[in-house]
Amino acid sequence: MDNYYGRKGTRVINVGGLKIGGDNPIAVQSMNNTKTSDVEATLKQINDLYEAGCDLTRVAIPDMAAAEALKEITKRSPIPVVADIHFDYRLALEAVKNGAAKIRINPGNIGGSENVFKVASACKERNIPIRVGVNSGSIEKRLLEKYGKVCPEAMTESALGAVKLLEDVDFDDIIISIKSSSPRLTIETYKMLSGMTDYPLHVGVTEAGTVREGIIKSAVGIGSLLSSGIGDTIRVSLTGDPVDEVLAGIGILKALDLRKGGITFVSCPTCGRTRVPLIELASEIEKRICKLPYDLKVAVMGCVVNGPGEAKDADIGLAGGIDEFILFEKGETIRRIKAENAVDEFVEEVIKLGEKNNVR
Ligand code: SF4
Repeated sequence: MDNYYGRKGTRVINVGGLKIGGDNPIAVQSMNNTKTSDVEATLKQINDLYEAGCDLTRVAIPDMAAAEALKEITKRSPIPVVADIHFDYRLALEAVKNGAAKIRINPGNIGGSENVFKVASACKERNIPIRVGVNSGSIEKRLLEKYGKVCPEAMTESALGAVKLLEDVDFDDIIISIKSSSPRLTIETYKMLSGMTDYPLHVGVTEAGTVREGIIKSAVGIGSLLSSGIGDTIRVSLTGDPVDEVLAGIGILKALDLRKGGITFVSCPTCGRTRVPLIELASEIEKRICKLPYDLKVAVMGCVVNGPGEAKDADIGLAGGIDEFILFEKGETIRRIKAENAVDEFVEEVIKLGEKNNVR
């Protein structure tokens, strides 16, 4: 399935038991927005992310209190936890000691090769990979002067320069990201980088924006790369609830047939035939079923004239009539449902079918 798009061969990196790269499923990740030193709030959010289908998450480590909190967080988290560190190598050392599954750091800004060596040695001892994370905003002045602007060449050279700092101290347990807030620059840069390295790539569009803007930019940037066979783990970056990042990431993978399982939700755009409040109804149903673990295609359609036929590949669906709905399975009408009970009854039917099929 993952090689459908001629996935680029990358080496396999183990992140706390989760294998990233090679033919392994493309991992969906997010980043907590809780204060990491607030252990309970952080763990609650990690559990919400896990339930939404998140494979690994990252937490900010801005200070020693956060690095110390990792000890309890990593002990109780159901998914690997990545420590996000800027500038201070001592925070990286503490995070490694406290169970981080991966360290995200830029080796170019932690104070010289001695510190790079210290962090790399600590990671190596515990088989902890490092993500070299380069963003368009953090390109070295020297490269900006050389290329005259932020461009794929400057970003790629910056990332590979940071990778070399680790390789020079004999460390190659590496994942690379090279993000920009422009989907186009992101696509061109990852394509260039992908031709120059076999380290797994963490793909995303950074500072993508609010939920609506961010999902559009991420779907274009991440989706284009995945359809070119590039990308081993993805993060949708949103100014919003991290759970929405995970649902969007999974949605992108599912749209490309790169992830199976879970609910696939379809609904019609409505038209002059619609006699039910479909827009509200579809959002409510989607909200209630989107995290269910069943492998089902669910349709919510505006009319009985065309709905069941247009959605006949759906496992189960609801089509609007006048003051009532019909419930259909694979295009066949099963029964009628009164308008006032439509959402509750339909959600129950979806769960019943999911349990019956027992496909998760
Ligand atoms: S399913 Fe019916 S209501 Fe929805 S767009 Fe098609 S014709 Fe219109």
